[in-house]
Amino acid sequence: MSPASITALVGELLDLGLLQERADASRTTTRGRPPVALSVQPDAGYVVGIKLSRMRHTALLVDAAGQPLAEASLACSDRRRSLDQILSETEKVLDTLLGRAGLQRGDIACIGLGMPGMIDHAAGRLVWSPLLTERDRPLRSLAEDLFGVPVAVDNDANLVTLAELWFGKGRAMADFAVVTIEQGVGMGLVLNHRLYRGAGSLGMELGHTKVQLDGALCKCGQRGCLEAYIADYALVREASTALDASGSGSTADEAMLEQLFEQAKAGNDAARVIFRRAGRFLALGLANVVNLFDPSLIIIAGERMQYDYLYEDDVIGEMHRLSLNRTGRAPQQIETHAWGDLMWARGAAALALSEIADAMAEGRT
Ligand SMILES: [Zn+2]
Repeated sequence: MSPASITALVGELLDLGLLQERADASRTTTRGRPPVALSVQPDAGYVVGIKLSRMRHTALLVDAAGQPLAEASLACSDRRRSLDQILSETEKVLDTLLGRAGLQRGDIACIGLGMPGMIDHAAGRLVWSPLLTERDRPLRSLAEDLFGVPVAVDNDANLVTLAELWFGKGRAMADFAVVTIEQGVGMGLVLNHRLYRGAGSLGMELGHTKVQLDGALCKCGQRGCLEAYIADYALVREASTALDASGSGSTADEAMLEQLFEQAKAGNDAARVIFRRAGRFLALGLANVVNLFDPSLIIIAGERMQYDYLYEDDVIGEMHRLSLNRTGRAPQQIETHAWGDLMWARGAAALALSEIADAMAEGRT
């Protein structure tokens, strides 16, 4: 774009109160008009990001510049429940958050709402989620009716990807992928600086790409999915057999995983083999991502990052061996990033901010 076009566009954004000139920035003297430092006007609006998960919902209030202002969370039961129940929990955490910030619902421009499962972002529909007893519900319109605020919905892997795109390691990158390893295996893909959601707007299901014909049974009902080899429940399934000698048959899944990890660290071969095998399947999944999309960076994210057997050099080496050798190119960059619930909520806030930005760009507001 020409400098004149940029000046005109920036002028409009300044008039709308979305940008501000920064007096504090140092100005270097160059030929022509002196440069002016600009930043987003933080009080141009507020958005809320809410990450719904099985045991805890987390909410974050951010300003238009994406700076966090307040947070709130709500512990809840581990059981699958109705959408009405989930939305009433969401309302509770939203009101706690707004109470802390001294704001009303009318002060909020948009709420970004994310949860695990298949969420149709464009249609605002919940197709399926492991949190819920119901399927195929109009999540966005039900939430908007209840809260009286515009709502955007998405799956949680896309939230992390948006957070990396807006605030994190992906800011300067045109093409990158985020692979999340939690109870399931998710993926977000950024192509040409935009989150790619696919024609059905459901996101990338890396966890259900097949890595073995007629392989292990997956939660989705099909066989041989990547998730059936590396997600929490897959490790627990193997751990329950391997650790049987220690008499921990009734141990809860979480404790079982901890125990498996402890044993691997202590040198228990059976436990090590389980992690190593899972790591090789992860390498296979990552190599498929590299061969299909050639992203400049893959970020591996999740709360299970302490199980470093899954991310050690052997796994990355195996991934490189399974990827096509692109002559003269540096090998794919891989980074790991441990995320807490609050960072997922920040991704939900990025979803709300991007929704507003898209609406403005399309002239909807
Ligand atoms: Zn599957």
